[in-house]
Amino acid sequence: MVTGKRIVIKEALQLKDFGSEIVVKGWVRTRRGNKNVAFIALNDGTIIHNIQVVVDLSVISEEILKPVTTGSCIAVKGQLVASVGQGQTVEIQAKEIEVYGTADPDTYPLQKKGHSLEFLREIAYLRPRTNTFGAVLRIRHAMAFAIHQFFNDKGYYYLHTPIITGSDCEGAGAMFQVTTMNLNQLPKTQEGEIDYNEDFFGKMTSLTVSGQLEGELGALALSGIYTFGPTFRAENSNTPRHLAEFWMIEPEVAFNDIIDNMDLAEDFLKYLIAYALKNCMDDLKFLNEMYDKELIERLQFVVDNQFERLPYTKGVEILIASGQKFEFPVQWGIDLQSEHERYLVEKHFKKPVILTDYPKDIKAFYMKQNEDGKTVRAMDVLFPRIGEIIGGSQREEDYDKLKNRIEEMHLPVKDLWWYLDTRKFGTAPHSGFGLGFERLILFVTGMGNIRDVIPFPRTPKNAEF
Ligand code: ATP
Ligand code: MN
Repeated sequence: MVTGKRIVIKEALQLKDFGSEIVVKGWVRTRRGNKNVAFIALNDGTIIHNIQVVVDLSVISEEILKPVTTGSCIAVKGQLVASVGQGQTVEIQAKEIEVYGTADPDTYPLQKKGHSLEFLREIAYLRPRTNTFGAVLRIRHAMAFAIHQFFNDKGYYYLHTPIITGSDCEGAGAMFQVTTMNLNQLPKTQEGEIDYNEDFFGKMTSLTVSGQLEGELGALALSGIYTFGPTFRAENSNTPRHLAEFWMIEPEVAFNDIIDNMDLAEDFLKYLIAYALKNCMDDLKFLNEMYDKELIERLQFVVDNQFERLPYTKGVEILIASGQKFEFPVQWGIDLQSEHERYLVEKHFKKPVILTDYPKDIKAFYMKQNEDGKTVRAMDVLFPRIGEIIGGSQREEDYDKLKNRIEEMHLPVKDLWWYLDTRKFGTAPHSGFGLGFERLILFVTGMGNIRDVIPFPRTPKNAEF
């Protein structure tokens, strides 16, 4: 049995006191060698790098080493020595090895290196053990941490908005229903409709598609708030940019107008990307090398350059004048597709773009109406490779205008009474936006498919693990 205090490999690789005895624990990535000496590459997920364990077979018997194969989990006690091999400064000369868990080479799915991302999706329960997913998950953590840091430094408060919601008019997408009723025996009203009075909450409820409406309630009391939680959209779109369950960050700020909102979005994204460049370089270098040779350069470019800001109408003019053949033809009034967004960003401006003042008919009811009667004070931030990464707006703070718009769009006013009340009692100009967390991680990691930047993706027909 290996005893003694374990040191994580991330720290062990920094040690300089050669000759001292240390204990490391982790999963075997590879084992090679001959009948005199074995080399084990050990990884514990705290850092992308492995530590090399050198085993002298006259010290540790072949019998003990036999189950030490790729994927097995071991503890090693040994002496820290300077490494003679390339690419590492320290290694461990093993004195004792204990095997916690074996991994049968005939059945362990990650026995070989270089699996496709598609294959790894099928074994999502094991893929965190690969270099790629280790890197992605560590970056994901760093970004979550930086998000809280950014808003905390600004004095905004983290508001927990509900995951189960009773309003089916958040307007951002199709919803998953939440019920405890027996679907084989639904209670019916006299008119033959489902009787939601019998359901858990006494009304129809769903999983939230956005925390914004409740976020506004927080902003109109605490000034600046942000949400950071899971959102659910039952959209049947199998794209590399959509999940059925994803995480969203939604700041909402009283007294901010649309310009302040754009400034906040741009500062926020640059802060996060700069944070990744400063704190995640090992993982970024790996991803840059393996998947996307321009990744680090692209991240630096976004940090260093001002985003282009222009109205939707101007953007549409540029798209029409481009002469480019799009799958979906462009005319004023359409909801821009990702091919259009990416043309503006990648071909025309060659940098991130913030489009504003969209036609009111393609945007949500709560956006502030412009004087022209046709557009609303919306803003979408468009990124290279991603298209829309942020969607936001200044909110309509005028009670009558908001109520008219709700009625015009045939939304159930009766379910929104509490939201409308905020415009009756101490209304204030305010703005906010939603950043899709996985879209951010897509951009920062350079990965191509959103299923590969969340540990357990939820997509149509896929919720196994
Ligand atoms: P899109 O047009 O790309 O479907 P949207 O306009 O429906 O997005 P919003 O309602 O504005 O998106 O949501 C705010 C942000 O949440 C988006 O800018 C995007 O980053 C992210 N987002 C939206 N839908 C999804 C999804 N299904 N999966 C992952 N992220 C999403
Ligand atoms: Mn949007």
